[in-house]
Parts: sequence; C-alpha cells; structure tokens
Amino acid sequence: MNSGLPDDLADLQERLLAFVAAELDPLTRGVDPEAPPRGLRGEIAQRSEAAGFYRLSLPVADGGLGAGALRITAAREALACSGNPFASLALAHGPGIMRLADNDAQREELYAPVLAGQRSAAFGFTEAPGAQRTQAVPCRLAGGQPGFAVTGKKAFVTGGDSADWIVVVANVPPNSHAEAEAGGTALLVVDRDAPGAEQGPVGASIDGATHCSFTFTETPVPQTRLLGRIGDGLPRALANIDQMRLRVAAEAVGLSRWANRATLKRIEGPHRTGTALAEREQVQAIFADMVSETYQARATLYRAAEALELNAPSAATEVAIAKSTATETLGRVVDRAIQLHGAQALLRGHPLERTLRVARSLRIAEGPTELLRLTITRQVRAAGVEGL
Ligand SMILES: Cc1cc2nc3c(=O)[nH]c(=O)nc-3n(C[C@H](O)[C@H](O)[C@H](O)COP(=O)(O)OP(=O)(O)OC[C@H]3O[C@@H](n4cnc5c(N)ncnc54)[C@H](O)[C@@H]3O)c2cc1C
Repeated sequence: MNSGLPDDLADLQERLLAFVAAELDPLTRGVDPEAPPRGLRGEIAQRSEAAGFYRLSLPVADGGLGAGALRITAAREALACSGNPFASLALAHGPGIMRLADNDAQREELYAPVLAGQRSAAFGFTEAPGAQRTQAVPCRLAGGQPGFAVTGKKAFVTGGDSADWIVVVANVPPNSHAEAEAGGTALLVVDRDAPGAEQGPVGASIDGATHCSFTFTETPVPQTRLLGRIGDGLPRALANIDQMRLRVAAEAVGLSRWANRATLKRIEGPHRTGTALAEREQVQAIFADMVSETYQARATLYRAAEALELNAPSAATEVAIAKSTATETLGRVVDRAIQLHGAQALLRGHPLERTLRVARSLRIAEGPTELLRLTITRQVRAAGVEGL
C-alpha cells in the first residue's frame, strides 16, 4: 500500500495488512459479515493482541499503547482498505461513552467492566421523533438516597438491545437542584432493567447495525450514576466527537481505496466483448474521478488527523471537513465502482453492495453532512479563513 505517509505510519499499515491477510482472511472466509458466529470477535481480538495491535488505540492508563490521532488514523484506514469486513475488530473498542465515568467509584463500578468487555453501555442521545425532550427531575429515591426521575424516549440506540446500561442525555429543569440552580443537560447511567425503563423493538439499519428505542417513565437513577455535573452533559458527550468523526473519515477513505483497487482489477480483467473495459475512454474518465476524489479526501484526512494530534485550534473544523469530504466521496466512489462492475455488484452479499449500504450510513452517523457544513461555516466565521 503506497501511502505517501511517513515511514513509521507506512510500516504500521504494511504490518496490519499482512496481519489481515495471514490471520483474518483465512479465519473469516465465507463468514456472513452480518451474522458472525459467536466467539469470532474474541478470536480476532486474541490474534490481534498476539500480533501487538489490539491495544493500539487505548490510553496508556488503561494498559493501551496510547497511539495518537495520526497513528490511529493510519491503522483504521489500512484495516478498511484490506477489504476484510471484520478487520476493524482488530482494534479494541475501548470504553466508548463510559470513558466519561471519571470518579473513583464510577471507574470501578462502570468503567472497568466495560473496558474489560464484561459489561456494555449504549448511548441514548437522539430524542425520538415527536417525543418531549428527556427530563431528569431531582428527587429522593426509595430508601431516601438522592437521585433523579428520568422521563422521555430515546431513539436509535445502537447496541441497546444487548447493553447493560444506557447512558442517557437528559435535561434537568432550572431551580430543581440545590447545587445546580441553572439546571441543564446531564449524563445519567440507567440500568436497562430499572423500573419504568422499557426497550422498544429492535431494528437493523441497512449497514447491518442494530438499534432500538428506550422509553423511560419516572425511571429512578441514583445521583451516583451522574457522570460529571449537571449542566455539562452535552459538552461532555460531544467532547469526543472529533475522534469519532475522524474514525469515520479514516474508514471511509480506506473503503474508497479498497473500492478503487477492486474496480481496477475489474476493468483490467477480461471482458466478454474481447476488449478490457479499461480501454474505453468513458471508463477511464470515471475511474480517474474515483481515484482523484479519493486522493483529495485522503489528503484532507491526514491533515485533519495531524491538526487533532497537535490539538490545533482549527482541529474541529478540519475534522468536520475531513468527515464530510470522506463520506460524500465514498458515496460517489462506491456508486461508480458498482456501475463499472455491472449487475454482479448488485447481488445481495456482494462486497460492493454491502459497502454501498455502509457508505450510506456513514453520511448520517456522527453528524450528517449538512450539520457539519453548518459547523464549518460557524467556526470559520468565528476564527477567520486564515486559520485553515
Ligand atoms: C449508524 C448510526 C448509528 C447511530 N447510533 C446512535 C446511538 O447510538 N445513539 C443515539 O442517540 N443516536 C444514534 N444515531 C442517531 C444519530 O445521532 C442521528 O441520526 C443524527 O443525529 C441525525 O438525527 P436524525 O436521524 O433524527 O435526523 P434529523 O435531525 O431529523 O435530520 C434529518 C436530516 O435533515 C438534515 N438536517 C438536520 N438538521 C439540519 C440543519 N440544521 N440544517 C440543514 N439540514 C439539516 C440532514 O440532512 C439530516 O440528515 C445513529 C445514527 C446512525 C446512522
């Protein structure tokens, strides 16, 4: 994989691709990416750990290798580019939203089991259409301990059907809590089986992920399950959004590169007309656009990764540019790749058919393109164009 990257990042990518080819491809051949057998995730984790990759993206404090944004981006890009749909599992998922559990008791009760993979947490952020904003009213719970009664409905909770806890963003009304007169958003860890908590039906999105809604009716949540403080819930929840967006961008660029490679093979291969498609000028032009746009998205990706690694003031803007550019590019690239592959790529289960569904989802997940455009303009209006 020629990368144009510094030697250490290029070397990491080569080693990861070799690992996928030697260890994961034989292990996952013929496995349906949307119905993996139990235990496959653990087996991939074990092999990746033995090869020295698994803990790459975890913080040093959690026994990880503490890689920075550039190194993580290079790893994610290479894994997506490998074409193995299970390759992303070679990197530890980490504590996810539970990283926000930061006092000693919460780290022991909530963070450690999630990090160890013994328990899981899902994120209840998106309000269900038509429902009132989720409220958390301070109160005394049974037994007299302080807490909140949570009422509302959250939609599209990814992995909610198998999660032990739902980390819910809820609004605490002003003048309802002695220590937080102004009220504001709070992050509360709700047990999935708490009284008044009801999971809705599970639905699968076209990318293969599963989601469900949760309805809460005066669901009791102890004060000890408040992550951070009242009023800082939303900023805390969004504090990690740049890393998540950069992750999506890296995967989108990796998938675009994979689609380009598959398309090159297809157009250079034999064709029933006797002339390879690569000899047709229109095909050459379409392919040139795929490669050029991927190149542009990739250049943007690494620039944003560097900005995030350096904690540059422009980092959030650059990451928003990278995420929107990479995912919109992937949408166009995979569409053209299917066009040049012809009808075979439309069959369910074809790698391009699956990538098309993933690509469609990435344009909405972690911030739809239109919202990112608002973010970009807002930030540039505040900081000026010179910062980019
Ligand atoms: C794969 C995936 C996983 C997800 N996982 C979770 C999860 O775990 N937890 C969770 O809480 N949520 C999750 N979501 C939901 C996600 O946060 C929302 O889809 C996202 O915030 C957009 O909200 P919405 O779907 O309600 O669309 P809406 O907010 O209704 O927006 C619909 C569309 O309108 C346009 N739009 C919206 N606002 C504006 C604006 N101000 N200006 C211009 N155009 C606009 C955009 O094109 C947008 O796509 C997930 C979504 C996806 C795709």
